[in-house]
Amino acid sequence: MSDESAPGRDMTLNIHILGDPVLRQRTRAVETFDEGLQTLVHDMYETMLEADGIGLAAPQIGIEQRLLVVGIPLDDDSVKLAAFVNPEIVATRDRCTMEEGCLSIPGIRADVERPSRIQLKWQDIDGSERKAWFEDLEARVLQHEIDHLDGKLFIDYLKPEDRAALQPAITRLQELQGRGGK
Ligand code: ZN
Repeated sequence: MSDESAPGRDMTLNIHILGDPVLRQRTRAVETFDEGLQTLVHDMYETMLEADGIGLAAPQIGIEQRLLVVGIPLDDDSVKLAAFVNPEIVATRDRCTMEEGCLSIPGIRADVERPSRIQLKWQDIDGSERKAWFEDLEARVLQHEIDHLDGKLFIDYLKPEDRAALQPAITRLQELQGRGGK
């Protein structure tokens, strides 16, 4: 790992797809806040942006740690990048439905109901403790990514009729993965 920090290395990481057991595993708390963590977060930003994602959790790149990044599109076309280490939802308010997708479940999107606002406790990549409220898209992405840290996926919340409609596509993805597809 350490000898891969030479300039010019490919900084994008392989995104694991539905059917890969790593997506269903629970993760461990991050305890070391070092240069390795900074490099990993940087590579996760690159991987997320390259894949046109707005969030990426460590299990999606095969790392069983409580770490996620988000890239929230802003009105001026810029992207607000942020990393959350050991995030924990401490309070929620209201509920709303939004359409979700996932870089690990390509081609599938569906409506999911979740809390509209969340209060989050987390650590920055230097280890400092933070606490704040999030709403709208940011709250939605954070909840989706935190689920990844507990081995949960948005398709677990589908209403029965959506589940029935999407099941063929879900099964196809899982079979591809089982055959060693990427
Ligand atoms: Zn996802």
